[in-house]
Amino acid sequence: MIQEQNYWLTTVEMPKTDPSRALADTADVAVIGAGFTGLSAARTLAKSGAKVIVLEGETIGWGASSRNGGMVLTGMKLGVNQLISMYGREHTQRMYAASLASIDCVERLVAEESIACDFSRCGHLEVACKPAHFEDYARQVEVIRREFNHELRIVQRNELRSEIGSDIYYGGLVDETSVGLNPARYVAGLGAAAMRAGACVYEKTRVESIERETKQGAAGWKVRTARGSTWVREVFVGTSGYTGKATPTLQKKIIPIGSYIIVTRVLSDALAHELSPRRRMIYDSKNYIYYYRLTPDQRLLFGGRAAFFPESGNSVRRSAEILRRGMVEVYPQLRDTEVEFVWGGTLDFAFDIMPHAGQIDGIYYALGYAGHGVAMATYQGHLMAQQIAGQKPDNPFEGIPFPGAPLGLYNGKPWFLPFAGAYYKILDWVS
Ligand SMILES: Cc1cc2nc3c(=O)[nH]c(=O)nc-3n(C[C@H](O)[C@H](O)[C@H](O)COP(=O)(O)OP(=O)(O)OC[C@H]3O[C@@H](n4cnc5c(N)ncnc54)[C@H](O)[C@@H]3O)c2cc1C
Repeated sequence: MIQEQNYWLTTVEMPKTDPSRALADTADVAVIGAGFTGLSAARTLAKSGAKVIVLEGETIGWGASSRNGGMVLTGMKLGVNQLISMYGREHTQRMYAASLASIDCVERLVAEESIACDFSRCGHLEVACKPAHFEDYARQVEVIRREFNHELRIVQRNELRSEIGSDIYYGGLVDETSVGLNPARYVAGLGAAAMRAGACVYEKTRVESIERETKQGAAGWKVRTARGSTWVREVFVGTSGYTGKATPTLQKKIIPIGSYIIVTRVLSDALAHELSPRRRMIYDSKNYIYYYRLTPDQRLLFGGRAAFFPESGNSVRRSAEILRRGMVEVYPQLRDTEVEFVWGGTLDFAFDIMPHAGQIDGIYYALGYAGHGVAMATYQGHLMAQQIAGQKPDNPFEGIPFPGAPLGLYNGKPWFLPFAGAYYKILDWVS
């Protein structure tokens, strides 16, 4: 019997907050959202001496931060050639370097705060679904070596069994720098660290509106929440795929897209070793991507965009069947293996599929991670906190053009997702 439940949450206890605590009247900074972005920002701000409140509509880590695959990957969602054509060589070099620095940032944070989240530099493996995708790997390796001084390794089809117990792919690409971790334990540890640093986290405190208000001559914001109002000097938004009407300008720039995961029962040592001998983080080369890995307790976690819509009871149930079929296509050995968990979460895609950070309508924000957010969200939260605290960190994603919908045809309700889903399926057939 499949449980419609996030497996990672069965491995962790989230830090407790005090539900009876009255909302502070004032603070230096209100951080909206208690995921990687918001909690990382809150920790850095609190350590710099600011009075920080974190306002979370649900509970700590409730959003994508506890629901993801725990794959901490190098690079960005877009390929390097496309990035170079969009931003030029020098800017792309800074972006790529930031993707590596973001992983180091997570590693440092996990060590400094002693977060037991199974952080492991196991590397990632990308697998080619078509011969043309494999040919492109050679070009990528060359560009990434030349432009970013970073080494990747091609795995020929006849050597692939040393990396993965599947015969359906045309070859692979390995990056040893990438990391696997347990995301729910990581976000729980980050929450505890932010609170130890002095940040005050309010759960079940949804922000309803944010308005400019001057108080005793100081410019700031009146933030109305489900638990009353507060006045703050600055607001930082880290609401990712759950960005809503409290920040309407951001809502119109972000497309929420569903991603779903199934997890099997615990596998035998021999079967787990056969599926993934090096315990890599694995994903394929399709637009309608599958991503998968062993969990630390040796289950197979298998995820994908089985339905494009954000999660609901219905889409989660349908996804369990679609993902199970996908898993058995990749690994016929799992035909009779029980799936124990299924759940979904919401990704945040900007219209240019890039992370974005900066200030909009006077409010600070960081979002748009497009499924590459475990490290980047942590890093952007940290960098934006430094910026709010008056430092000038190098952040290559800050202030880059942030496009809205073409012709402005989007009010925050993604009516076009079924068409986009069909479009990507067609692309996977033809390219
Ligand atoms: C199924 C799935 C698999 C993924 N796999 C990977 C992966 O393997 N590797 C990877 O790098 N990335 C992955 N991602 C993406 C990654 O999880 C996200 O990019 C990252 O967690 C974003 O963190 P965040 O803190 O910005 O947002 P979230 O963790 O989504 O937190 C946003 C929070 O804001 C709160 N909120 C929203 N509006 C309000 C409001 N008005 N008032 C108060 N609170 C509000 C929400 O309740 C939520 O808790 C995956 C995502 C999903 C859904």
